[in-house]
Amino acid sequence: MTERTAESVGNLGYHAHIYYDPAKTRGIAERVCAAVGEKFPVEIEEFRDVPRGPHPISNALVIFKPDQFEHVVPWLMLNRDGLDVLVHPLTTDAVEDHRGYAIWLGNPVELKLHTLSQGRRGGQLPKGVTP
Ligand code: ZN
Repeated sequence: MTERTAESVGNLGYHAHIYYDPAKTRGIAERVCAAVGEKFPVEIEEFRDVPRGPHPISNALVIFKPDQFEHVVPWLMLNRDGLDVLVHPLTTDAVEDHRGYAIWLGNPVELKLHTLSQGRRGGQLPKGVTP
């Protein structure tokens, strides 16, 4: 079996999906996103009050390049303020990105993996990154 290294898997970046409840914790999510956006070169893509794609819960999407992982993820571990966060890479397999390759900060949420394309890229890449 060939070892699948980060290079052979072809990861082009990461998403941090910060889950929130629009009626209760949107303000917390806004504060967390504002802080992470001030500290690191990330893109705060949008607040999705209506759940979309594989995510069954409202979430704010933070996009960043691979070299920011070691900065952004430890910061979120300590500063997510009780919110659950899904961090997943952006490889050539959108299903694995959200299943085998993903990490959770807080409580994992069951995702709708059938909405994703197996064996294909999915999800918005960081600005300036092309497949
Ligand atoms: Zn994503």
